Amino acid sequence: MDDVTTAHLPLSDGNSIPQLGLGVYKVGNDLVTDLVSHALSVGYRLIDTASMYDNEAGVGHGLSRSDVPREDIVLATKFWMDDLGYEGTLSACKKSLTSLGTDYVDLYLIHWPAPQRDLYLDSWKAMEKLKADGLVRSIGVCNFHEEHLQRIMDASEQTPVLNQVELHPWLSQEPLVDFHARHGIRTQAWSPLARGQVLDDPSLVSLAGDYGVSVAQLVLRWHLQRGIAVIPKSNSTTRITQNAQVFGFELSEEHMALISGMNRDYRTGLDPKDRN
Ligand code: NDP
Repeated sequence: MDDVTTAHLPLSDGNSIPQLGLGVYKVGNDLVTDLVSHALSVGYRLIDTASMYDNEAGVGHGLSRSDVPREDIVLATKFWMDDLGYEGTLSACKKSLTSLGTDYVDLYLIHWPAPQRDLYLDSWKAMEKLKADGLVRSIGVCNFHEEHLQRIMDASEQTPVLNQVELHPWLSQEPLVDFHARHGIRTQAWSPLARGQVLDDPSLVSLAGDYGVSVAQLVLRWHLQRGIAVIPKSNSTTRITQNAQVFGFELSEEHMALISGMNRDYRTGLDPKDRN
């Protein structure tokens, strides 16, 4: 049986990523080092940060404090909208590598397309160069709608290996997930727990009780069985450990459908087309 360390999903460029990783949005540099080294000690092998989270230095310390070899870890970071454009992307990547204290990142992501700025295609060309130069191993995007992905695919050599988007039971993103599947793009869910907002939902509470798991575990299991990658965040080492314990049970088809049926196209954040 797979666990948090062994469950991997292949990417279209020949690399792979752990299906479940740790997200560290809004975790300060003071706390993040301990949380990252704890996560690695309980089997996590993917850490998701961003220049905007202002904690890349702390993440890097967490990696170097851990006994887990660097090559076994998938380190993901992103550059912010202000660095969109060819030169901005190249220099943002170099800044992130310095902050993280590493020679390369495994997964480098455009944080938001900011379509009104019309710079994400220029950034994508820079992403291809960063990959060719060996500074990043895989390149992907976040918060891209189908039309933004299609534009990259029409104009570029390489298709993004992954699109990290808001996705949880209240925003199941079925059309986008289908589009990704048709084009070999991996779907990774940000806010997989809707920032904690779904955890009090009475039908999820009741179903979690039937399986003898927490609501967070139930929802994470639903993502995994859909073939989605997830990066839940927690400030608590206990909950980080709990969130990794989602490989020892399986949801029935009926319960998978029940959770998928809770979709109400609810976003905790802005629609990417409106964020510029
Ligand atoms: P999540 O959906 O991961 O939810 C985090 C919330 O759930 C926190 O309040 C946390 O509280 C709570 N929580 C976590 N585990 C449990 C548990 N087992 N039991 C009870 N409560 C729990 O939200 P995020 O917005 O943080 O998303 C996850 C990651 O996605 C981010 O950290 C970031 O890496 C990425 N992200 C990417 C974005 C992008 O634009 N690309 C945008 C937003 C996020 P507590 O901390 O107290 O445990």
